[in-house]
Amino acid sequence: MQMIHLIEKKRDGEALTEDEIRWFVEGVTSGVLPDYQIAALLMAIYFQGMSAHETTALTLAMATSGHQMDLSDITDYAVDKHSSGGVGDKTTLVVLPMVAALGVKVAKMSGRGLGFSGGTLDKLESIPGFQVALSEAQFKAIAREVGVVVCGQTADLAPADGKLYALRDVTGTVPSIPLIASSIMSKKLASGARGIVLDVKVGSGAFMPTLDRARQLAETMVQIGHGAQRDVIAVLSDMNQPLGCAVGNALEVREALACLSGGGPADLREHCLHIATLMLRLAGRGAAYADADAVRGELEEALSNGRALEKFRQMVAAQGGDVRVVDDPTRIQVAPITAELFCTAREPVYVAEVNALQVAKVALELGAGRLKKGDSIDLGVGVEVVAKVGDCVQPEALLARVYASSEAQLSSALASLEAAYRFSSDPVAPLPLFYGQIDYQSLV
Ligand code: URA
Repeated sequence: MQMIHLIEKKRDGEALTEDEIRWFVEGVTSGVLPDYQIAALLMAIYFQGMSAHETTALTLAMATSGHQMDLSDITDYAVDKHSSGGVGDKTTLVVLPMVAALGVKVAKMSGRGLGFSGGTLDKLESIPGFQVALSEAQFKAIAREVGVVVCGQTADLAPADGKLYALRDVTGTVPSIPLIASSIMSKKLASGARGIVLDVKVGSGAFMPTLDRARQLAETMVQIGHGAQRDVIAVLSDMNQPLGCAVGNALEVREALACLSGGGPADLREHCLHIATLMLRLAGRGAAYADADAVRGELEEALSNGRALEKFRQMVAAQGGDVRVVDDPTRIQVAPITAELFCTAREPVYVAEVNALQVAKVALELGAGRLKKGDSIDLGVGVEVVAKVGDCVQPEALLARVYASSEAQLSSALASLEAAYRFSSDPVAPLPLFYGQIDYQSLV
């Protein structure tokens, strides 16, 4: 086979065969294909797209390009979740202990933040001592004994994705639905999940700014899951404004702990209850979990009676973290310098927009995120969004708070944050949390 032929075929809008796709992925993984030819094919895929059959073949080839985790010695049905990336999305920190509290084991590999999107590993590292680099044996032992574990993805898990993503990042080929879908799903398949809840974000702070594109991505991933004999449910969730109030690593862990203690922002709690219910229903796959209201009721109880928080505590202890943060989240250090943004309107007004991307840019400029892989970040900085879409705010009311490491950052952070807000003198409805749900049955 010759790479030039694959590039020409795709350039001219033809479909690649399974053999050709497998050969390409093997060449990427082994390093025999030059970057310029890989990049040329990626650009051709960007413009010409891929059929469902091609996308599934690409995903399976990437998923099997390295080590595949087998979780069958921990549970007969491993369930996982994945967020397509958002601002203030600390869902994993809350949902995993909730699910584990109801007896379903979750062993999850997560990533680091990149660009405007945060990462669970960075968030967890704001807990002093917390270890995210675990051997496979440690990962499995914690999953078995505690029921919940989160660790970093090893380099040998879907290595083809690592190489392709690095090239996509510098060739303008990230925003392609078949490439995003295969990238996400290859890692999920390789990490051993049988049932997967995909949280596909829609809006200004998401990879997919429109509902239409988000739906296409969700449908593509559900189809890939079906082709790979996995159960996949995708939800389309709002990312026009940050989820919850906290944006920034340490601040988000504090907020996740508030939620696990039965409090926290209402939107975050509701979002987590929904995702956890879906995960449990997938894991139950039968009569026991057929009743969504009953599952939700049990989850609410796990939040109010401390069982979910207890699971989080056990995970922190097992992963070397300081468990004292669980009862006293103020032990998680946040940046010492704060400044507040107040409403300057003369009359009461309604919040019409808290632009998630703009808030993310503020957090990024403060140092909470990284522009490129490997950059160091400041775990303590960030933003607390107090007023959210639909809220009626009085003159001089507090809108948001900035946490910075230096005074010099404050004035530009406040000005940028102000630009995230838009107001209306007429009442504004709160944003919906979800825009829809897709499973394979809904596609056929
Ligand atoms: N997340 C991934 O893992 N891959 C993409 O291509 C986009 C988001």
